[in-house]
Amino acid sequence: RGKHVPTGVVVYEPAATRPASDALVMQRELRRALESDELVLHYQPKIELSTGRVTSVEALVRWQHPERGLLPPAAFLPVAERSELIEPLTRWVLRRALHDYAAWTAAGHDWTVAVNVSARNLSSLQFVDSVRDILRQAEVLPHRLHLEITETALAFDSDVAGQVVDALAREGISMSVDDFGIGFTGLSQLRTLDVTEIKIDRTFVADLMGNEHDRAIVRSVIELAHRLGCVVTAEGVETQDVADWLVASACDHAQGYLWLRPAPWTQIEDGAGAPAGS
Ligand code: C2E
Ligand code: CA
Ligand code: CA
Ligand code: CA
Repeated sequence: RGKHVPTGVVVYEPAATRPASDALVMQRELRRALESDELVLHYQPKIELSTGRVTSVEALVRWQHPERGLLPPAAFLPVAERSELIEPLTRWVLRRALHDYAAWTAAGHDWTVAVNVSARNLSSLQFVDSVRDILRQAEVLPHRLHLEITETALAFDSDVAGQVVDALAREGISMSVDDFGIGFTGLSQLRTLDVTEIKIDRTFVADLMGNEHDRAIVRSVIELAHRLGCVVTAEGVETQDVADWLVASACDHAQGYLWLRPAPWTQIEDGAGAPAGS
């Protein structure tokens, strides 16, 4: 520290500091990516199990990296979430999703749009103002937008997060608890939060037919959600027998590769009419 390092001299860098500097490089690249519109949104439909209809589509962000190809959120979201970059990133996702929403609405689809938000987005009431402004600019009514909030985000700073959720609900925006079952939402917190949907994490759903405990958990969550006046969505449905079991267990909605993988919305449009499993 404070030592003068002449240019051209290679400084020994302990391995432990390398991930941090990789993160800094990634942060810089991601900032540039946001400015040059390298992020893209794929969408995954949510299927109403009783009718097989698409009722909503969930926006899932990807990065079309100039050298590394299409990157999944796991490759860059953690870096964004550890910095203030998650704020412009979420605003970008909201703007793009509402822009696409306008396009599919004009094409005659009545799908609502769901956007994922991160813990850090809920750490300030300013987020409510940004969402309101973006909705107004896009001329989309608040009840057409749905926000998905992970259980862990709700536990992150539960006082402020709770206030943000309440304020968003007052705006007329509906919200779900995402990844339910793997986080730490206390049942009392669930009771006080203004959420309208519970999404059961796919780790409970994927292997449901082979695991009696998973079936017991999913059955209980469906009953709990209904008692709280929420609808339930099962994520990660890959097989028809899981879909059938969910229908028989009064689960309301489902998402998964069985119907469609996340894709640009125009491809969802092509696949939306196809029968389940095809
Ligand atoms: P998530 O919100 O739980 O989204 C569901 C993830 O499961 C998606 O992964 C989706 O592609 C995948 N998936 C859907 N159906 C199936 C299936 O049948 N089988 C399997 N194995 N996987 C399935 P993806 O797109 O990689 O996103 C991962 C996570 O990244 C999301 O989990 C969400 O927490 C986060 N994320 C994605 N987009 C955004 C965003 O725009 N903002 C924020 N804050 N987070 C996002
Ligand atoms: Ca989600
Ligand atoms: Ca989820
Ligand atoms: Ca997840």
